[in-house]
Amino acid sequence: MFVDKATIEVKAGHGGNGAVAFHREKYIAAGGPDGGDGGDGGDVVLEADANMSTLMDFRYRRKYAAGNGADGAGKRCAGKRGEDLVIRVPVGTVVRDSQTGAVMADMSACGRFVAARGGSGGWGNAHFATPTRQAPRFAKAGLPGVQREIVLELKLLADVGLVGFPNVGKSTLLSVVSRARPKIADYHFTTLFPNLGVVYAGEGRSFVMADIPGIIEGAGEGAGLGHDFLRHIDRCRLIIHVVDASGREGRDPEEDFDIINRELREYSPLLASRPMVVAANKCDLLDEEGEARLARFENRVRDMGMEFYRISAAAHKGTEELVRAVARRLPELPPIAVFEPEFVEPEAEKELPDPEISREDGVWYVDGGWTERLVRNVNFGDYESRMYFDRTLRDRGVFARLEALGVAEGDTVSVCGIEFEYRK
Ligand code: GDP
Ligand code: MG
Repeated sequence: MFVDKATIEVKAGHGGNGAVAFHREKYIAAGGPDGGDGGDGGDVVLEADANMSTLMDFRYRRKYAAGNGADGAGKRCAGKRGEDLVIRVPVGTVVRDSQTGAVMADMSACGRFVAARGGSGGWGNAHFATPTRQAPRFAKAGLPGVQREIVLELKLLADVGLVGFPNVGKSTLLSVVSRARPKIADYHFTTLFPNLGVVYAGEGRSFVMADIPGIIEGAGEGAGLGHDFLRHIDRCRLIIHVVDASGREGRDPEEDFDIINRELREYSPLLASRPMVVAANKCDLLDEEGEARLARFENRVRDMGMEFYRISAAAHKGTEELVRAVARRLPELPPIAVFEPEFVEPEAEKELPDPEISREDGVWYVDGGWTERLVRNVNFGDYESRMYFDRTLRDRGVFARLEALGVAEGDTVSVCGIEFEYRK
């Protein structure tokens, strides 16, 4: 089974307590304090593993705890450090704080990430001996380790993402141009999980292509299956939009094309702005009427500044040209997207003042304070991150303040230069 999202609880180790002890030796009446320090609690560490491809393991185990630090002892014996717990996750896993949804780490960029830091061990009384206090009877307790719930989310690392209605031939195309063997069948939603394939384009060039399950109407708002999978193409550098040119299932390729583009924009304006190449598939089934319709569609696509390819994936026609065209484009495009951490420890966040709100020419300006850091940190190309942005503004009272000032549905709100339409 393919699992690409999981919520787990991570608990770092508690620091060991410092010891209160005094040096004892024959004939020495009152020795000095010699209580050792407690050991630090172990960390919970995530480690990216290229051999893992799903988050399935996390379905069966949800709690992860690192070892506690041992208490200190006499004779300045420090307690043993708690053992770290290393959790392996697939490369490409994005780690979020479950409470806020903020990105903590993108495991495609770094090898290791401390998801929960162990508490420090307490100092033993040996630390507290001063010239005036020769025999301190106290030591410090160890501190608790961090405990939090995190969300692991797999976002595939693919250069090219295939999008299109179910059954247009995306899986067939991937199977023809790569060694990937996705399931292909003549009914909708056969692809229940994303597939990756390496495409060799000749001259030593290759790229990774991802086939995601068909996007359906309403997917952009989280209604359908597609939404869950759209995150796998968040990182893509180029999109191949596959349409069924034959219109065989009573569908109009042009209409399908518009619906999918609308869904993409709805889901992520940034994703929708990536370069797109159109592949009109099943050209082997074209009749005269279909041919005329396709020609009109082709003109429109070209007018929009996109390349258009007629292919028949099943018959291996036109697929080579498509692959070569994509391979030519890729070197000019930015690399696969990596998500920057947005997460700020809750304590650090509290120190910043609330933003100022003003109104000018009908636009509401929210500036300064913690919003500056928020805007700097949020990955606006990522759907969940935009939800986090929204939630933070709500939770921290910005929307309530705007409401009190009389903001209306549809008004433009600008938060440190990020503009959006106000929705209740
Ligand atoms: P997906 O849902 O977009 O992944 O579509 P599939 O790759 O599973 O293909 C759906 C159906 O269309 C399958 O029965 C394929 O054999 C068929 N198909 C795919 N490409 C072509 C093509 O170029 N010509 C024809 N005639 N059928 C095709
Ligand atoms: Mg498929």
